[in-house]
Amino acid sequence: MMTHCKVISLICCSALYAAQVHAIELCGNMAQGELIKATASGTEQAFLGETQLSVTPEGTFLFAFSRDAGKQHNLQIATQEGVDNYALDVKPTKWDIQKINGVSPRKVEPTDSDLRKINKEREDLHRALAHHTETSFWQTGFIMPVKGRTSGNFGGQRIMNGKPKSPHQGMDIAAPEGTEVHASSDGIVTLSKGEYFYTGNVVVIDHGQNLSTIYAHLKDTTVKKGDKVKQGDIIGHVGKTGRATGPHLHWGASINNTRFQPLSLLKLGDNSFCSNL
Ligand SMILES: [Zn+2]
Repeated sequence: MMTHCKVISLICCSALYAAQVHAIELCGNMAQGELIKATASGTEQAFLGETQLSVTPEGTFLFAFSRDAGKQHNLQIATQEGVDNYALDVKPTKWDIQKINGVSPRKVEPTDSDLRKINKEREDLHRALAHHTETSFWQTGFIMPVKGRTSGNFGGQRIMNGKPKSPHQGMDIAAPEGTEVHASSDGIVTLSKGEYFYTGNVVVIDHGQNLSTIYAHLKDTTVKKGDKVKQGDIIGHVGKTGRATGPHLHWGASINNTRFQPLSLLKLGDNSFCSNL
């Protein structure tokens, strides 16, 4: 295999040079916390940094930049003719500061026995997000899972009862308790479980190619692990289980275990966010 543009210099790896090697279409906002859809026909393998991406037979693959992603990332694409490297510039995103008061003190300062439960919750969530399905269910597109008011944005730096906590890993949508929550796209349920310390009753759906969505703080769940769901199916109802101060849906999104802005899923089918490298 020949290696084109092996990060000799930035000029070598500029979009101009890459365009002479292989046409690649990138759809999405090249910024921290955003999901990107890429298509390059003939792609057999693709890597973003060290992470191998799952590629469809058409040469389409997805990746996301984390909330704190650095300014530059290397995308490597292998075809029959060789390996191309692309230097991707990532714009910074300005994150909110979210002050949340009235949280139960124990949910801000967990006890030792709480920490054991939190570890189990993290393991279960990690296992569900690592579930791998080759079928690209995500190509159905995505809808908002519930109608309501946005009460917390993805990436916000949270200050709970005056104490700085980890950034927000999803978006919050406030709606009355009992409001139906819908599957945002087709997929397979990889977690449907209750009474976790932070997420309460939670559902995770695998949409294929290592892309999953997370639905937390549910009053109840109406699906079980292994169920196939279609976009719009009811998967549970809005509640305030886990660490919540009022009824809302926490909607999260993850690809290759990188959390990203769930709203960027809604742009997946919109070609106005696409450009060619
Ligand atoms: Zn949330």
